[in-house]
Amino acid sequence: MKLLIATRNAHKLEEIRAILAVPGLELLGAMDIPGLPDVVEDGQTFPANAVKKAVTVAMASKLWTLADDSGLEVDALGGAPGVCSARYAGEPCDTAANNAKLLKELSGQTVRTARFRCVLALAMPAGRAQIVEGVCEGTILDAPRGTNGFGYDPLFVPRNHSETFAEMEAALKNRISHRAKALCAARETWGEIFEKNLSEWPQRPARRTRTPAG
Ligand code: IMP
Repeated sequence: MKLLIATRNAHKLEEIRAILAVPGLELLGAMDIPGLPDVVEDGQTFPANAVKKAVTVAMASKLWTLADDSGLEVDALGGAPGVCSARYAGEPCDTAANNAKLLKELSGQTVRTARFRCVLALAMPAGRAQIVEGVCEGTILDAPRGTNGFGYDPLFVPRNHSETFAEMEAALKNRISHRAKALCAARETWGEIFEKNLSEWPQRPARRTRTPAG
């Protein structure tokens, strides 16, 4: 079965390929299909953006399509930058400016808890979608450390670790990250579609309800 990943980001595609290695599943990137529409991520939530992207691209390509939206939620900032993570310091997207703004907003703040969240939406060619998500809890430092990764990685220390995402090996980040967890959930939830090349959502067995008689 062909599955289109609605991203032109080669790094993301590699990560997805590594975890969604399901027998018989051929993963295509947005760069493999010319003429796909660009989708404006203007939703107020990660699920809204992921579903919009997956449904728009699935209907245009006539292929089952997987799309993601992700970002950082900081407790002391009421969940910001959230869906605005990529453009927190304004357009165009500037990682150094985003990180500087985050440190400024948190200056003097002792509550440093935060999480990365990743929502994946799978849409069928007719346009119906389902979502799964993954979360990685952690804390925000008061100065950047490390040069690996991207985005807010130098400021984020995942729970139960001492290195930032930007200090650790990519292989470790890719085992514990929000995206890795969402991809594992995707494999668990939708593996049957991928393996059996289904054309509809699998029928879930009806939940058995216990009647008073037994
Ligand atoms: P998108 O899901 O690619 O649109 O990512 C949105 C933004 O969230 C990125 O531009 C980063 O600023 C941030 N982000 C998402 N995932 C990560 C991550 O794994 N590390 C660091 N920043 C991330």
